[in-house]
Amino acid sequence: MSLFSAVEMAPRDPILGLNEQFAADSNPNKVNLGVGVYFDENGKLPLLQCVQAAEKAMMDKPAARGYLPIDGIAAYDNAVKGLVFGADSEPVKSGRVATVQALGGTGGLKIGADFLKRLSPSAKVLISDPSWENHRALFTQAGFEVGTYTYYDAAKRGVDFDGMLASLQAAAPGTIAVLHACCHNPTGYDITPAQWDRVIEVVKARGLTPFLDMAYQGFGHGIAEDGAVIAKFVAAGLVFFVSTSFSKSFSLYGERVGALSVLCADKAEADRVLSQLKIMVRTNYSNPPIHGGAVVAAVLTNPELRALWEKELGEMRVRIKAMRQQLVDGLKAAGVKQDMGFITDQIGMFSYSGLTKDQMVRLRNEFGVYGTDTGRMCVAALNGKNIGHVCQSIAAVL
Ligand code: PMP
Repeated sequence: MSLFSAVEMAPRDPILGLNEQFAADSNPNKVNLGVGVYFDENGKLPLLQCVQAAEKAMMDKPAARGYLPIDGIAAYDNAVKGLVFGADSEPVKSGRVATVQALGGTGGLKIGADFLKRLSPSAKVLISDPSWENHRALFTQAGFEVGTYTYYDAAKRGVDFDGMLASLQAAAPGTIAVLHACCHNPTGYDITPAQWDRVIEVVKARGLTPFLDMAYQGFGHGIAEDGAVIAKFVAAGLVFFVSTSFSKSFSLYGERVGALSVLCADKAEADRVLSQLKIMVRTNYSNPPIHGGAVVAAVLTNPELRALWEKELGEMRVRIKAMRQQLVDGLKAAGVKQDMGFITDQIGMFSYSGLTKDQMVRLRNEFGVYGTDTGRMCVAALNGKNIGHVCQSIAAVL
């Protein structure tokens, strides 16, 4: 008998588990559309030029690596505030945003969840139905009961907006509503600016706590356009949480660069909230790593590098849109009769294809095309070389 004799084998992570299966697949035509990662036209993970330039400047002046402050690099936190709220915005100028550097967007969500659990132990959490798989797991592990609000309408192929409003309206005051700021994962369907206004009205009237997850800023319509929802929440006079991820927008997945920002009522409140967020960080991993945060801070604060980043991010966004169109055209050319035009209505890295679990399993086993069992495919991993095989394969299982 060991201490661990009764430990059960946990199920594989639904998304990262696919990567393991993909790596082991010997099919020469295999295509990984499972995980949310952007690959360039050559099927390569890009190393952005702005990142390389920032790293070169850092290497030219090698620096020793002391501990960072618990909340991370000050210039980084300020740059995040500027990006999320606007450098000249009232919340930033009045000092009522508390921001901590975090280990990716996941780390930002987790620090926020841990803080919220202490603040409102009996609150419930609502995530969209469906949502990024880790939202439920992460808030559940933080001790919350997690439910869903209506979001996707499979028959209509879009958002069941009345359903969404009704679910939020039915939520108890104090409920934490996790909202995708842009590029909804997994469906690819966002609500319109006018619909955000209605959501904000309900959030305000019901006294819900908004937690905006911003993992794809810049992949939808543009950096400012995708971030515009934040100003709406500010204008409504709400206090709220925002997690930021630079994994995709800087192609820095493995550096774990993200943040949590909490908009408070005033500076004194933000100072107190920050002091509590720091305890969450300190008792989890003490302080964040330097490299990724230093790179992002260098790029965001240098006008030339920032312009280069915006250009490179813009190119990723445009290439994904082109791939969506090629997917629609390619499926038609491969003989698919049903209208697949919905793929270009979707935005961001993913397409919710509407394929069943059985069809997704066949795609994987027979054709080496990997998406999630829920039918989600990462269109940001398509390119001119693999799209033909993907279209033929989908046509064969439909
Ligand atoms: N939120 C959503 C909606 C995501 O899709 C992801 C990444 N897949 C994250 C958060 C986490 O991002 P990171 O990899 O930076 O932790």
